[in-house]
Amino acid sequence: MYCEVIIEYATAKEIDRLFTYSIPPELLDRVSIGDRVKVSFGQSKKIYIAYVINITNQKPSFKLKPILEIIDETPILDNKQIDLANFLVNHYGASYAASLNAILPPSLKAKAINQSKIEKIVVFDEINHEKFKVLNKEQEHVYNQIKQKEYKSYLIDGITGSGKTEIFLHVMRDVINRGETVIILVPEIALTSQTLSRFKERFGNRVALTHSRIGIAERQRLYIKAKQGKIQIIIGPRSAVFTPLENLGLIIVDEEHDASYKSFEAMPKYNAKEVALYRMKNNGLVILASATPSFEVYYQAKTNQIGYLQLTKRTGDAKPPTIDLVDMRKELEEGNTQVISRKLHDNIKQVLSQGQQVMLLINRRGYSTFISCRKCGFVIKCKNCDVSMTYHLIKKTLECHHCLAVESIPKVCPSCGSSYIKFFGNGTQKVEEYLNSHFMEYGIGRMDLDTTSGKEGHSKILQSFRQRETNILVGTQMISKGHDFENVTLVGIISADTSLFLQDFRANERTFQLLTQTLGRAGRGKLNGNVIIQTYNPEHEVLQLVKNYQQQDFYKNELTLRQIMGYPPFGNIFGVLITGEIEDEVIKSAHLLKEYYIHYNKNSQFRIIGPVSAIISKISNRYRWKITIIGTERNKLLTYGKYCIDKCSENKEVIG
Ligand code: ADP
Ligand code: ZN
Ligand code: ZN
Repeated sequence: MYCEVIIEYATAKEIDRLFTYSIPPELLDRVSIGDRVKVSFGQSKKIYIAYVINITNQKPSFKLKPILEIIDETPILDNKQIDLANFLVNHYGASYAASLNAILPPSLKAKAINQSKIEKIVVFDEINHEKFKVLNKEQEHVYNQIKQKEYKSYLIDGITGSGKTEIFLHVMRDVINRGETVIILVPEIALTSQTLSRFKERFGNRVALTHSRIGIAERQRLYIKAKQGKIQIIIGPRSAVFTPLENLGLIIVDEEHDASYKSFEAMPKYNAKEVALYRMKNNGLVILASATPSFEVYYQAKTNQIGYLQLTKRTGDAKPPTIDLVDMRKELEEGNTQVISRKLHDNIKQVLSQGQQVMLLINRRGYSTFISCRKCGFVIKCKNCDVSMTYHLIKKTLECHHCLAVESIPKVCPSCGSSYIKFFGNGTQKVEEYLNSHFMEYGIGRMDLDTTSGKEGHSKILQSFRQRETNILVGTQMISKGHDFENVTLVGIISADTSLFLQDFRANERTFQLLTQTLGRAGRGKLNGNVIIQTYNPEHEVLQLVKNYQQQDFYKNELTLRQIMGYPPFGNIFGVLITGEIEDEVIKSAHLLKEYYIHYNKNSQFRIIGPVSAIISKISNRYRWKITIIGTERNKLLTYGKYCIDKCSENKEVIG
């Protein structure tokens, strides 16, 4: 017998494939698929860890090395996980080693995982049936549809506060009662302590939590516990989709539109929603839910690939908030140069005096986001990146939000020497300063990357808001996500324009989602809510559709546009980023690569765009150019996209 293995940390392409080893007699009846083993590899004496992917009796013609040792008592991977790794390799073009790494717990050492350390837990907590709410008519309908299982997966398109979470809880109870297990994906665990407590309240210690801030040892323990069938419900961010639960019956993806479900940075670059659907392809159920579904999922639902379920009303008496647009051009004309319009100011004042609370969204942190010379127009940019520096009030420094460089504020213009340096562009600190000078006595909380760095960062700020020590909460998009404060009756959006003019085909979608999610924070309780959106473009179509709650029209218009352009969900995009320290070389490489794309573009089935300078053309001293390729068939596009890069880099090394 022989076994085929994948070597761990096989970063180079040449060794990211199956290698055959012989099985020495003493290990013959112990080795099985999914085992971790030790092997020697190549000429060096170094010992590597490898994973047994296959066992075969076909002897290759060349001489084989034996496997040296089996590491764990039981296989660390099962067949389903190996199949999942194959999916990651084929679907995302990831390496085998990276795919297995995503599935396995982090930082496994070359010694056996100590399984005896895992305390024997038994479920002693009963399901707390009393806490379950009686579903209203709309909820009941959705719940029944899901139960009938006409589809394998469903989109619940339900406005904020319509009771989606309550439906999850009911479906979960059924799944648990059948002896099956559940994975719940949430966008940002730090922001969802509230959701978590609702799950704990119903299911007690059957619920486990995983996130990036818990330690490595704990994550390894969770992995083993899951495999041993000792976890019934796990809640976590996108990586939790790999949790090897036994008898998995349901995966819920809450706020499915959230960008965090796609991993862009590290390999494998995967989409947790697709992984969820793949894991449940044979049996089991996937529920995707959002008040602002992503276009991909919405389109799947509308074309009957998955079930479409809608919730149109808020629970109880809560009504959707009224929405006003404030034209900031007029505001300026009439002499108000402040960051807050008069209308928003008056509303804040009134709401606070009635003992209610306010949330304000400004999607930029810092104080001023743009510093330039009045005399010559020179803009102070980062030395390493092609972005303007942001002024931070408290530290009195200029910071780059891309490479995190810090500089002091120049006294005179570095270009012309004039002392007329002016600060433009508003960030969270500017708004906070305004609020402090007008509403200090009510207590003001600020939530952005600068205030939430510590472990307890988020929860402290949210806690004081909940306990009404603070009554205004200003923050970046962090405040738009999922919070349920019933005393918030006013939501202000300081600038709706920030994301509207991004050079990205998703700019409209992002703006629509951010605004709709944020305004969903107002009036969730018994009190009616009001939303004020400040903008320099009140006539913009997206803002008008948000204002009039024409969600279906927005999706229809946007889908038509995407179809014309061949953008997702109608086509697929393959992006190549070419980076390097010497701009000329980057540009040359980009053009060279394009020639390969043109050459191999048979029947012109792919649309090649670029090369163009990326939106941020330099980060950390590396210039950035990009080529975008659009094609209908995903697999063909992936193969073509990668093939040309390989061909090109065989001749030239510069491509990064
Ligand atoms: P969503 O997840 O759609 O934002 P939630 O499930 O959080 O909505 O529900 C919003 C609020 O309404 C919550 O406070 C929840 O406890 C309450 N709620 C949900 N369903 C019901 C129901 N059937 N009866 C009474 N209250 C409900
Ligand atoms: Zn100047
Ligand atoms: Zn920088």
